[in-house]
Amino acid sequence: METLDAVVVGAGVVGLAVARELALRGREVWVLEAEDAIGTQTSARNSEVIHAGLYYQAGSLKGRLCVAGKALLYDYCAARGIDHRRCGKLIVATTADEVAQLEALIARAAALGVTDLVRLTSAAAQALEPALSCVAAVLSPSTGIVDSHALMTSFQGDLENAGGLVALRAPLVSAQHDDGAFRLEVGGADPIELRARVLVNCAGLGAVALARRIAGLDAALIPPAYLAKGNYYALAGRAPFSRLIYPVPQAAGLGVHLTLDLAGQARFGPDVEWIDEVDYRVDPARSEGFYASIREYWPELPDNSLVPAYSGIRPKIQSPREAARDFLIQGPSDHGRAGLVNLFGIESPGLTACLAIGTHVADLIAAA
Ligand SMILES: Cc1cc2nc3c(=O)[nH]c(=O)nc-3n(C[C@H](O)[C@H](O)[C@H](O)COP(=O)(O)OP(=O)(O)OC[C@H]3O[C@@H](n4cnc5c(N)ncnc54)[C@H](O)[C@@H]3O)c2cc1C
Repeated sequence: METLDAVVVGAGVVGLAVARELALRGREVWVLEAEDAIGTQTSARNSEVIHAGLYYQAGSLKGRLCVAGKALLYDYCAARGIDHRRCGKLIVATTADEVAQLEALIARAAALGVTDLVRLTSAAAQALEPALSCVAAVLSPSTGIVDSHALMTSFQGDLENAGGLVALRAPLVSAQHDDGAFRLEVGGADPIELRARVLVNCAGLGAVALARRIAGLDAALIPPAYLAKGNYYALAGRAPFSRLIYPVPQAAGLGVHLTLDLAGQARFGPDVEWIDEVDYRVDPARSEGFYASIREYWPELPDNSLVPAYSGIRPKIQSPREAARDFLIQGPSDHGRAGLVNLFGIESPGLTACLAIGTHVADLIAAA
């Protein structure tokens, strides 16, 4: 059996970015994807926001890779003609108590090197967005939106131009390290066995389950897996906003925010619903909570204007009772297995950070 240089599991935006980077560094790379198309899971079910890097602790992987990834992503989109817009966003305090949280946000962002935030009075914020109601706001000029599907297609093109390939309907079932390489059992309609010297687990919601099927991996290193669903509602009609509008961050997420797609259509979400199994249906009964949250910053939101849209699921590695964890990217120096990298808990800002994650993973492999 031929031994491949590298196999990346998962053709989401992160797996494709990692595969692209490995291929550009001269490796022969195959991507194994369980579904029948690239980017159908979390990478297709998010807010498509290029985050500025406001929410993460200094020194964290989320913070570092978000800020580096943002710059790489803007450059990449500009160079490749990927549809995107640096539209900016307002983070709004709707009560006097929340103003302190805006200050904390500014300080946290500064610690990550994000120093372009602008404090706004409510009048200044309303001058930018007349429909907005708030007591104060912060403008983040470097926040933007991106066409995530065009991005993933472009990554796949880069990979294929460098000699790599994406195998669809090819779920990795198990892996065993044997004689200097991984023996891979690939399922699907035409099961096969492969061998690869490098194995990168970018399986998103399936990453923890897959790690448990890599023989010999220390189980103590594999985190638990939890699912936190985020539901979205679309606005019927046009929204009177040209920037993204976010409340101050909440405990488990960023709060029900207004994002715009590249056609200018507004959507609201995601909320946070802890679930036991992957289920992307949006319960229309949740709309009541959405109206209440949105009217805190947009009181004129018309009745009956929200339509259930879609949902995405955050691959959490902590329970609802625990503090948010950082991205967990384990390379050979963490688990002692040459050639293996596992990526766990790649929730937001994974889309923003994808190119920087690609570089980080390729560096971990090169260093081993
Ligand atoms: C509600 C929500 C909103 C978000 N908003 C933003 C945002 O605005 N900005 C931002 O930067 N980030 C955002 N994110 C985060 C971002 O979407 C993710 O970090 C990113 O899409 C993760 O990409 P991925 O490739 O790791 O996972 P996925 O896109 O889920 O890809 C994993 C792939 O692995 C495949 N797979 C699983 N198991 C196997 C197996 N055994 N064999 C083969 N294939 C397998 C799956 O089919 C899937 O295609 C958001 C996330 C959520 C949930």
